[in-house]
Amino acid sequence: MNANAFPLGQPAFVTNVLDRAAHLRADDEKLFAMEGQGNARAYVVHRDSLVVKHDTEGPRALLTIDEALKLGANPGTIFLGLRDGAPVFGMGIGAAAVEKLLTRDDAAVAELRGMAMQGVVPSEQLSAIAMAKSMVSWHQRHGFCANCGTRTAMSQGGWKRDCPACKAEHFPRTDPVVIMLVTHGDKCLLGRQKQFPAGMYSCLAGFVEAAETIEDAVRREIFEESGIRCSDVRYYMTQPWPYPSSLMIGCSAVATSEEITVDLAELEDARWFTRAEATLMHKREHPDGLAGPHPFAIAHHLLGRWLKQGPL
Ligand SMILES: [Zn+2]
Repeated sequence: MNANAFPLGQPAFVTNVLDRAAHLRADDEKLFAMEGQGNARAYVVHRDSLVVKHDTEGPRALLTIDEALKLGANPGTIFLGLRDGAPVFGMGIGAAAVEKLLTRDDAAVAELRGMAMQGVVPSEQLSAIAMAKSMVSWHQRHGFCANCGTRTAMSQGGWKRDCPACKAEHFPRTDPVVIMLVTHGDKCLLGRQKQFPAGMYSCLAGFVEAAETIEDAVRREIFEESGIRCSDVRYYMTQPWPYPSSLMIGCSAVATSEEITVDLAELEDARWFTRAEATLMHKREHPDGLAGPHPFAIAHHLLGRWLKQGPL
């Protein structure tokens, strides 16, 4: 996608500076040697948080392997790829080591989303950090074979787990989620979940189910959550969302009905907003304190595109 396709800037996690260099994953010896290179670097992640070192220039997320180990990172590495030819790895860290970090002045551990929103981590590094976060999380949750229950072993630089007993191969999963801006003439449909910040409304979203098309998932989720029927589903862009491992598929849809019935199990509220009102929310200038989604999220860009350019 070219730069012009992002008239409003970019959402997080969409530009990866790493060459995944997947051809190197099968060579264990080479990966081991790369880990020992002076230019090897690692991102250290713990659940939804990232470990950073404090230098004189400020916080730094990309650590040397030695720094990562000294901060208490687990020794197992996941090969994320090459950055300007230098190998970059993902590493996890245990809760006890994280506790110790909290007392140190030269390092910090903080929630990734907050750091990204505050610009603590350069935006071009977010995608690589998302890779580390999703992969470390997958390994932590998939230590045993789903087929026979035996403990599995990491292979392919961390991109596969093998079962020594039944020989099953396990690959990291990515869960597709549709997220869509529904419009009806000069109005758009936005909803809010209970846990959203006060006054914030966003696009409706939901997981794609087994054997379901993106188009059907969009229509189904909209109907389930708001009672609105819609047609003319169009794709806009995707955003990796490492919580823990989703791919947000941004779409638009045109409503063919207007009466809203909110699914209160999913949403606290869903409403039609006029273009004028949505514009104020998008700019965070609404007089009642209503706000649209943060620029970090694809929903902000789906809304912004409609406000700026009209229907797709
Ligand atoms: Zn097995």
